[in-house]
Amino acid sequence: MGTKGREIVGMDVDHVVELLNRAFADEWLAYYQYWLGAKIVAGPMKEAVITELMEHAADELRHADMVSNRIIQLGGTPVTTPKRWFDLTNCGYDEPSDPFVRAIIEQNIKGEQCAISVYHALIGEVGFKDPVTYNMAVQILQDEVEHEEDLQGMLEDLTVMLKR
Ligand code: FE
Ligand code: FE
Ligand code: MG
Repeated sequence: MGTKGREIVGMDVDHVVELLNRAFADEWLAYYQYWLGAKIVAGPMKEAVITELMEHAADELRHADMVSNRIIQLGGTPVTTPKRWFDLTNCGYDEPSDPFVRAIIEQNIKGEQCAISVYHALIGEVGFKDPVTYNMAVQILQDEVEHEEDLQGMLEDLTVMLKR
């Protein structure tokens, strides 16, 4: 990366890269969980749920892109093999073994809540010591908060519908 851009980072750059690689692994696993969930989901409101899951999958892939760009800017290397995603992940991967809409939505809500905690902690740790990473993490956090809200809204609609 640019030497001045690296110099202004007021904390251990390798540590920031490590935190970002953990988030990077999370984003790929979240992407795949949404992508596969959209393929296999079954039950009421299926079409609306598929649309939402595919939108979120695209957002998670975009987050992976944002995080990897920042890793590279900091002179790091985005984790080079999917095998390591499970060593690094904060939020893990919830296998969608039950394709019912409620189960898929609940699993993804759990994933979003973990992502919100991870980016909130990252923002707290990095703060103004690394304003560029901070700004990126705030942008991603805004999306994750929106994702949680969307999914909880769909779960409410589904609950109302199933009660009738
Ligand atoms: Fe994300
Ligand atoms: Fe998300
Ligand atoms: Mg959405």
